[in-house]
Amino acid sequence: MNRSRGAATIGGVYAGALLGSIAGFLEAVMLLDGQNLSSTPGSSFLFVLLSVSLYAVVVAAAGAVVGFVASFLPYLNRKDAGGRYGYPFAVSFGAIVGGFLFVLGTWWVRMAPPDLALLRRYVRTDTLVVLLLSIVVGRVAFHVVRRVSRLERVERYFASRWSRTWTFVKLGAALVLLLVVVGFGGGPAEGAATGDPGRYNVVLITIDTLRANHLEHQGYDKPTSPLTRVMSRDSVVFRECVAQYPLTTPSHASILSGRYVRSHGAVANAVPIHDSVVLLSEVLKEHGYTTGAFITSPIIGEKYGFDRGYDHFVERNRGDFTKSTQAEWMGQLRINRFWYRLRRLDRTTVAAENWLASGPETPFFLWLHYITPHAPYAPPHAYEREWDTYRSKVVPSIRELARVNRREIEVTDDDVDHIVALYDAEVHFTEDLVARVLSALDRIGARDNTLIVFTADHGESLFDRSNYFGHGQYLYDEEVLVPLFFHCPARLPVQRIIDEPVETIHIAPTILDFLDLPPEPSFQGMSLMNVIDPGSREWAPGAADGGGAEDAAGETEGGLTTASGHAQHPAEEKPAFSINRDGRMIRFRGWKYIEIDDELGTEELYDLGSDPGETNNLVLTETEKAAELRELLRQWNASVPVVRSDSYELDDESVRALRALGYVD
Ligand SMILES: [Zn+2]
Repeated sequence: MNRSRGAATIGGVYAGALLGSIAGFLEAVMLLDGQNLSSTPGSSFLFVLLSVSLYAVVVAAAGAVVGFVASFLPYLNRKDAGGRYGYPFAVSFGAIVGGFLFVLGTWWVRMAPPDLALLRRYVRTDTLVVLLLSIVVGRVAFHVVRRVSRLERVERYFASRWSRTWTFVKLGAALVLLLVVVGFGGGPAEGAATGDPGRYNVVLITIDTLRANHLEHQGYDKPTSPLTRVMSRDSVVFRECVAQYPLTTPSHASILSGRYVRSHGAVANAVPIHDSVVLLSEVLKEHGYTTGAFITSPIIGEKYGFDRGYDHFVERNRGDFTKSTQAEWMGQLRINRFWYRLRRLDRTTVAAENWLASGPETPFFLWLHYITPHAPYAPPHAYEREWDTYRSKVVPSIRELARVNRREIEVTDDDVDHIVALYDAEVHFTEDLVARVLSALDRIGARDNTLIVFTADHGESLFDRSNYFGHGQYLYDEEVLVPLFFHCPARLPVQRIIDEPVETIHIAPTILDFLDLPPEPSFQGMSLMNVIDPGSREWAPGAADGGGAEDAAGETEGGLTTASGHAQHPAEEKPAFSINRDGRMIRFRGWKYIEIDDELGTEELYDLGSDPGETNNLVLTETEKAAELRELLRQWNASVPVVRSDSYELDDESVRALRALGYVD
C-alpha cells in the first residue's frame, strides 16, 4: 500500500469513528429518552457506552473501506492532499454522511436495511430519489467540512503523531466525563432489588388486542408464542377468561379496579375512571409496594386516571404520536416501521428493563402494556418476512381495514390469510418484547420471588364469522376471550389448567389475596385463589368449605371467604359477563346468550359445546335456556351499581388518539 493510500484509509477511519460515535450517541439518547436517567444509572451508562463504541467501530471500519476506495479517485492525487489525512477525511466524511442517509432513506421507504438478496426490490423510483438526494447531501457535507476545517490545518494537525494522540486523549476524556454525568447523576448503582425480600413482587402484563386462541397454549397451531407456551406450563392457566368489555379503556379499568364497567366510570375509550374508584396500584402502594407502569397506548394514560398509585408512570404515545398515526401518516404502512420500532416499542421495553435493572425497592408492582397486536398489523420486517409469504395488495393499516369492513375493498381468502399472518407476527413480536423485560427480572434475581400475571384487554375479530377486522363491535368469543395465567412456580401449582370461565375483574382481588393483603372492599371481583390452589386456603370459621351455601362474605355471591377475609370465587362455574356499547352477554355452563339494544331487540343463543364458532343461533328453539340466561343477565345488570363519570366531553387530544387507533373516523 503506498503512502497516500494508507493515509486515505486512516482519514476514512477517523471520519467513520467520529460519525459513528455521534450516531451511536444519538440513537442511545433517543432510546433512553423520557426516562429519569439518574434513577437507572448503571444500565444507561452501559447502554450509551455500548451504543457509541459499537457504532464507532463499525462505521470506522466502513470509513477505512471508503477512504481506501476513495484513494483511487483522482481527487486524492491532487496536490493539496499531500498524502496526509485531512483531504481523505473530508471525502470519507461526505461519503459516510451520504451512506447513512441512503440507508435511513431506503429503510424509511422499504423498511428494511438494504441487503443483496433484496437489492432488486430496491431499484424503484423512490429509492433512486433517495440515493440521489443522499449523494447531494454527502457532497455538500464534504464541502462544508472542507471549508470549515480549513484542510491545510487539519492535515498539519493530523500529521503530528503527538497532537493526534492528544486529540484522542481529549475526546476520550470528554466522552468519559459525559457518560459519568449521564450515567452517575446521583442515585444508587445498578444491582439486585433491595428492600423486603420476604414479600412477593407482582408483574402484571396486559397485551392489547390479544385474542386467546391465537396463543399456542390456548390451542393455536402456529408458533406465535414461544414465551407463553413455556411459561404457561409452570402456571395456573385459565382457558376461558372473559374480558368485561372488548375495548381498551373500559377493559383495562376493570382489570385494574376489580369492578365491572358500569361501576368504574370509564364506559368507553378515552373516558376517565371515576375519581372515587380505587385501583390495584393504589392499594399496593399503600401497603409499601414500589409501583411502576410502562404502557404504550394513549387511552389508558394519566389523562384518564390510570396513573394513580404509581411512583413511576412511563406513558408512550401521549397525545397523537401513536403507532397508527405514524402508519397512517404517509398513507401506507410500509413507510413507518423504522420509526415505529425505534420510537415506541424499544423505548418502552428499554424503560421497563432499566427500571428493573435499577433495583427498585422490593416488593414492587410492575404493570407492562404493549399495544403491538392492535391494528395496524405492522410487525418489524424480520417478523413480517418470517410470517407472511403471501404478497397481498391489501395493507392492514387502520384505514384499509376500515375499507375492508365497509366492503369497499373485496378480499380473497389469501388476502385474509395474509392479514392474519401479519397479526400473528405482531403477537410473536410482542412475546419477544415481553421476554426481554422478563429477562431483566431474571438479571436482578427477582424471578422466583415474583408473581407474573399475563392477560389481555380483549381479543380481535379476524374476519371470522362477522367479516370484520377489529374489536368492540361484537361479543363473540374472538373478541371477549383473553388469555389469563398466574405464574409463580415457587408458590403456586404448576401445570394446572382451569376450564371454568372467569372474568378479568377477579385478577386484582386474586393478586391481593395471593400477597396475603387484606381485601379491598370496593373490588367487585373475587379472589381466584380457592380455584387456583384449593388446598392452600384457611377457611374462616363459619365459612362453607367448597359448597358455597352460606353467605359468609356478606353481600358477595358464592359466600366463601378465607381467614384473610377475601371473598372467594366458588370452585364451580359462575356466569361470566361482558358488555359493549349496545349490548351485553352472559356465558354460563357451555351456553352463551347475547342481547343487543337495536330496533329489533336482537337476541342470540349459542350452545358453545356443539357450536364453538357461534354460528347457529338457537334463541327461537331453545327457549327455556334462553329465558334462564336472559333472567340471569337481567339480574346481574340490575345488581351492578352505576358509577358515572361526570359528564365528559372528548377533547381534541382524545379525539386524535381515538382517530389514530381507528375508533372514530
Ligand atoms: Zn385494547
